[in-house]
Amino acid sequence: DSASRYDFVIVGGGTSGLVVANRLSEMKGFTVAVIEAGDSVLKNANVSAVTGYGQAFGTEIDWAYQTEDQTYAGGSKQIIRAGKAIGGTSTINGMSYTRAQKVQIDSWEQVGNEGWNWDNLSSYYKKSEKFQVPTSEQVARGADYYIAYHGEHGPLKVGWPQAMTNSSVLPQLDETFQQLGLPYNRDCNGGSMVGLTVHPNTVDSEANLRHDAARAYYWPYQHRPNLKIISNTSANKIIWESDSRNEAVAVGVEVTGVNGVETIYASKEVILSAGSLRSPMLLELSGIGNPGILGQFDIPVQVNISTVGENLQDQTNNGFSYEGNEFWLGSPTFSALPSADDIFGENAPTIASDVNSSLAEYAKRVSEYSNGAVEEANVLAAFQLQHDLIFKSQVPYAEIVLLPIGNSFSNEYWPLLPFSRGSVHINSTDGSQPPSINPNYFMFGQDLKAHADVARYIRKVFSTPPLRTIVGEEFAPGRKHVPENASDSIWEGWVKSKYRSNFHPVGTASMLPRDKGGVVDAELRVYGTKNVRVVDASVLPFQITGHLTSTLYAVAERASDLIKKRYIF
Ligand code: FAD
Repeated sequence: DSASRYDFVIVGGGTSGLVVANRLSEMKGFTVAVIEAGDSVLKNANVSAVTGYGQAFGTEIDWAYQTEDQTYAGGSKQIIRAGKAIGGTSTINGMSYTRAQKVQIDSWEQVGNEGWNWDNLSSYYKKSEKFQVPTSEQVARGADYYIAYHGEHGPLKVGWPQAMTNSSVLPQLDETFQQLGLPYNRDCNGGSMVGLTVHPNTVDSEANLRHDAARAYYWPYQHRPNLKIISNTSANKIIWESDSRNEAVAVGVEVTGVNGVETIYASKEVILSAGSLRSPMLLELSGIGNPGILGQFDIPVQVNISTVGENLQDQTNNGFSYEGNEFWLGSPTFSALPSADDIFGENAPTIASDVNSSLAEYAKRVSEYSNGAVEEANVLAAFQLQHDLIFKSQVPYAEIVLLPIGNSFSNEYWPLLPFSRGSVHINSTDGSQPPSINPNYFMFGQDLKAHADVARYIRKVFSTPPLRTIVGEEFAPGRKHVPENASDSIWEGWVKSKYRSNFHPVGTASMLPRDKGGVVDAELRVYGTKNVRVVDASVLPFQITGHLTSTLYAVAERASDLIKKRYIF
């Protein structure tokens, strides 16, 4: 029946999917459906509150995926949070708006993705953004920017929370970091991220609400007659044209929703935007993936792409907390982003060459872990590129989020570019079952050592005046557990016992040339298919040093233009 026929069917009404839905439905005469497992959270206070970070965790709008036992990280499982709602993970995230370092995005083009470079993506960062100029009060508390980096007419509101932290803090942090050689960065969103910065957030500053993908890209457009969200409905798999010969042709998506199991038909394209832990699983359930894995579940192979679900890259997060000697009000948005040179000083070249000499071994192990699905030479090339970004281009090595709140001063930090690579694969043929997720946290000693090195740097930061004078005792890890001058192994033991996922999984349907292990091409089309694309965090070939949403919005904006140009002349 016509009620379940559309030109475009998008699976996942999250951060990326709603951008694509919005932009495709700008084409009058084309119909767009979005299949979303979750529901509206427009009236959910755990979502809208600017100070509500964490409140939605563990509730019905959190998928709360569980990983496999983390063998290299002490053995236990980890939770990876992800939003199940119209708006996806942007409805539960930390709202930080930081992009990436220019060279990282340029590296996407260097490895063969034509047109994917910083200059092109820059215009899409701006297209998505509605930058809100800070008030004089916010400026006094550290909000700072170069207007040339920002877009002022896009759907996504970017700015600072109404109540920012006391104005005394930034000068104290700045003076502290200056002593350690880390410069102040007025605006980290111009492609150069290193430094101490007061980054903006995805907030509606005037209404003082979270601005998630739904508030930005869907609710103001919900009345478009050609745009339909089918919520509380889960996609199970893609349905193929039966006589697909050279290319697999999708005709729709099988879903389970309020009417039970049915098919939503797509006359033009199916776009998977279910997130990096889910889109690869939908590909596998639809017969696209590693024949060895599909065979275990008797799924007929539509397209043999052995790397579907491989290349999973996440970061690991840990933190310190100190007693405060002052009292701090408001929402902090301070981040320190030191480079490898900032952290290692004159030892940086030695560390760079140590890491370099391990890369071949790392690549071999990643390939072995994947049973050869990932080619050693391809991983090695990716690792060499990553090594050069860290040690030659000096992209940020770690992010340290500084959190003076009430009478405590804590921080969260994560080394930005770990080498560990994992995977996400189906566990069953039942689309409602979660996938098997293995990020292989701390697969390589270098990733664990990076934590210890960054932790030592943080302790040095908090021991440097004037920061030293405004904090008291170190509660976590505490000098009892990790004494001054503790060895690597003591630091690493603490890291393993306390770390968590940084919730930034990417790469599981990488945009790369097919012979380099790619799952999608530079138009984000799945190899071997005529009309299936992936547009979400899965396609990022490499981890980035920014938080993900700003880049995902930009990628989805560019993807939308790539799709539209095939239909409007
Ligand atoms: P999602 O936004 O997750 O969208 C996927 C959608 O698909 C979801 O709505 C899901 O319900 C739906 N779906 C999944 N499977 C199916 C199915 N089978 N059928 C139908 N629908 C389905 N990034 C930042 O930029 N700044 C931050 O401060 C920040 N903090 C974070 C804090 C947390 C706790 C988390 C979890 C993430 C954070 N991130 C942050 C990361 C960022 O939010 C995510 O990377 C990003 O939102 C992912 O976007 P996506 O489009 O790939 O997927």
